[in-house]
Amino acid sequence: MTDPKDYDDVTIVCFRVGERVLVVDGASKTKCEGCAMDVWIAPSSRRIRAENKHARVVCAQCAAKRLVSREQLDEIEGTLENRKRRN
Ligand SMILES: [Zn+2]
Repeated sequence: MTDPKDYDDVTIVCFRVGERVLVVDGASKTKCEGCAMDVWIAPSSRRIRAENKHARVVCAQCAAKRLVSREQLDEIEGTLENRKRRN
């Protein structure tokens, strides 16, 4: 198993402050490096960030944009919309 510290580029995905998510005990606020929104960072993630100078903190929205193309994102959103309509 590869230790996360060995990766050159570690992405820490955080949830934006204000979203209805469960905030981990001891979490603190920091800024998303993609959109500069306030996000919650958990103590475990803070440790990874302190130990890895390549670690980037991004919100879930920016992480999704990095991983998938705009077209894919539209497809995913379209699928979610369809599911909502069916329910
Ligand atoms: Zn962001």
